[in-house]
Amino acid sequence: MRELEAELGVTTLDTSGYRLALAQFERAADRIDLDPNLRGRLRVPQRALAVGVPVRMDDGSVRTFHGFRVQHDTALGPSKGGVRFHPAVTMGEVAALAMLMTWKCALVGLPYGGAKGGVRCAPGALSRPELQRLTRRYTAEISPLIGPERDIPAPDVGTDAQTMAWMMDTYSQQVGYAVPGVVTGKPVSIGGSLGREEATGRGIVYTILELLGRLNISVASSTAVIQGFGNVGAHTARLLATAGVSIVAVSDSKGGIHNPQGLNIDEVIRHKKSRHTLQGYPEATPIVNEDLLELPCTMLIPAALGEQITGANASRVQCRILAEGANGPTTMEADQILRDRGIAVIPDILANSGGVIVSYFEWVQDLQKYFWKETEIHTRLRDILSTAFRTVWDLSLREKTDLRTASMMQAIGRIAQAHLDRGLYP
Ligand code: GLU
Repeated sequence: MRELEAELGVTTLDTSGYRLALAQFERAADRIDLDPNLRGRLRVPQRALAVGVPVRMDDGSVRTFHGFRVQHDTALGPSKGGVRFHPAVTMGEVAALAMLMTWKCALVGLPYGGAKGGVRCAPGALSRPELQRLTRRYTAEISPLIGPERDIPAPDVGTDAQTMAWMMDTYSQQVGYAVPGVVTGKPVSIGGSLGREEATGRGIVYTILELLGRLNISVASSTAVIQGFGNVGAHTARLLATAGVSIVAVSDSKGGIHNPQGLNIDEVIRHKKSRHTLQGYPEATPIVNEDLLELPCTMLIPAALGEQITGANASRVQCRILAEGANGPTTMEADQILRDRGIAVIPDILANSGGVIVSYFEWVQDLQKYFWKETEIHTRLRDILSTAFRTVWDLSLREKTDLRTASMMQAIGRIAQAHLDRGLYP
């Protein structure tokens, strides 16, 4: 019975992640006095699709997985957002992440709405052929919703460039010709963009440098603690170290490593690549994830999953800056505690927007069939992020509010204006 409940429960919106996304929305909506009709509309997704994904396993059996694609809003253009493969995926979590994508794209001025997809699975426990079959069947099931002018998936937790290549191929086989613009975060060989893989990490570093400048904190004397050493965490660590920040601790899902003198990040990356774990790295002491979040540092960067900084540990974190590499890592309760303690939070929709910004560049290049140099990608990314940061910073000073509320006010304001200009159909 409990198992059945757990299985059927995957399609409800009422999850902790969705309640968090809603609460953040309501807080900012109150501040801008959002039209109540629009508020009602934006509280729920525009479209949500739940699919059964039957997959032939290597042992010959067939297992059906739960998959989702949610489009939160499409007022500004086609919807955009990643696909997550993780055991905790539910409709509610995917819908929450889709809502965040709407705000993220609007905040940095991309002509996109927000979407997200996911399949409830443990990708690490599947073989590569099983993963390929799962990805292709999932793509076929959501194909009525996606397309370069409709909804453009990208990588997220548990998916990567290979996943996107399989999605692009499946969609292209269905229509009969290559459609690179149907997904972003693809390999460069099939229309991917230079600089996309490290883009989220690069964006996090750019926003941190902007904030350090505003707060008059010197880069060279700064230390960082990073939770998560996947695509986002590892690139953030590497680029922060290059900028001169000392990385004192990093972790993955199995645990972390700590060295107050600073870790050699290139060595750590090599170790993780060859051993598939951080454990056993020689020049550091092991540390569990909960303790890692409470280490003294200039900047703490949760770059793994949601709801990591909570009412239980927010009073014990010892950073001056919290940069949200992950989506939704801070609960409402924690957010209030951090505000009261004067810790500056760079919210997810700003801090980690580098990924979707370079996804936008990739899509533009695919549509134009004209590809840019890597330096051009970096320059344009930095330009968009410094403009967005300045807008948010100035608004937060003007409104005497924190960076999250200012970011949300700006983003929701843009979406609201688009809805009001388009009018209500019919
Ligand atoms: N999954 C990433 C995010 O949460 C990137 C999405 C995209 O590039 O479309 O922002």
